[in-house]
Amino acid sequence: MITKEELLQYLEKERQAIFQRGDAFFQCAELGFREVETARRITDLLEEWGIPYEKEVALTGVIATLGKGDGYHIAFVADIDALPRKDGKGNIHSCGHSIQTTMGLSLLKALHDSDMLEQTDCKVRFYFTPAEEYIDFEYRDELIAAGKLEFRSGKQNMISLGCFDGVDCVLSAHANGDERTKFDVSSTLAGFMAKKAVFMGRAAHSGAAPHLGRNTLHGATLAMNAISFLKDQFAVEKGLRLNPVLTIGGGSVNTIPDETVLETYVRANDNETLFEACRRFDGCVEHCAKALDLEYKISNTAGYLPLAQSKGLNKLVRENMLLHCSSEEIVESPVSGASGDVGDLGFLIPTIQFGFSGVRGRFHDDSFEISDYENCYITSGKVMLGTIYDLIMKPNCRVQQNKKKYDVKKLEYFGWLHQKPE
Ligand SMILES: [Zn+2]
Ligand SMILES: [Zn+2]
Repeated sequence: MITKEELLQYLEKERQAIFQRGDAFFQCAELGFREVETARRITDLLEEWGIPYEKEVALTGVIATLGKGDGYHIAFVADIDALPRKDGKGNIHSCGHSIQTTMGLSLLKALHDSDMLEQTDCKVRFYFTPAEEYIDFEYRDELIAAGKLEFRSGKQNMISLGCFDGVDCVLSAHANGDERTKFDVSSTLAGFMAKKAVFMGRAAHSGAAPHLGRNTLHGATLAMNAISFLKDQFAVEKGLRLNPVLTIGGGSVNTIPDETVLETYVRANDNETLFEACRRFDGCVEHCAKALDLEYKISNTAGYLPLAQSKGLNKLVRENMLLHCSSEEIVESPVSGASGDVGDLGFLIPTIQFGFSGVRGRFHDDSFEISDYENCYITSGKVMLGTIYDLIMKPNCRVQQNKKKYDVKKLEYFGWLHQKPE
């Protein structure tokens, strides 16, 4: 049987090819659900290597499968989408997703070349997932209206299509902006829900007969106060963030406003806080509207769920990091205010997303660049490949998915996602 060291050598051997692929994918920057060229380059390589795959999953996603067994089932997830440049000149991989794409392909090739899965009943599937960045709504909502998609994000659609049914664990990695260390483990990601509250009243002459009207701006103002007091009811570390804005607030000054629209994201670091804060937000709107004899309507657009990582998997990842760096070079459990649709996967399946350094400039900005190829492509790849090796070869390291729990959670999840605008 192949040793871990022998397996990791497959990455070493490919070093130059990996760096070249990394550059090529970094240059190939396409927005979510438009990653046609990126997907073509991925499938061209899979064809060349003779690895089976499905394409056009959730429009532009690709899923490649290694191993035919129905034993332990590992999913490696790589984002493939980019962001628009700030200077208006096309797109840029300013969240580093091209590194994930490159890593996925490196791991696929190493596992394929080593033939290691042929000797086990395990399966490793590589998900090249579109549209992680929560942007470009007009285009995505058009695709939804045309029935081509159900949700705004790649993983949400893939979950809905059943692509992750039967998966035991999800592995992923994302660039971080920490230049002083090599990796982070057990970070949290915040989750969010977009809320839109419409207050409906009655217009009237504001000088001659305001008493005949029902002023919706008053209702919204009352609700804004209640919402800001609400923040006080959650501990700081829960990461609750509410920043309501009024997007419609009235028209002419001589008329009592009969429609006011209040919108906000509700953000939190964990599911419990997010769900509860959404419930109490609705309460603020409802009761403030009722207090002033107004009607109201609340619509929701689900963003991403907070990421709670699997402790068991992170222990394994950390052990694999320590083969390549010292413990001082690993940041433990950082809290991030950012969000990702990997949080949705973490709600359903034991999931990890470790962070790796090696980029500089600002995320989501044109200044973003890859500065340490070794850490981004080779060392991170080894950490991930070593973790996959352990999960395949050492059954006692495995974190098992509970199939019954998954079905129940999936129902709960779709209840959350389907809180769409009426
Ligand atoms: Zn991003
Ligand atoms: Zn990202």
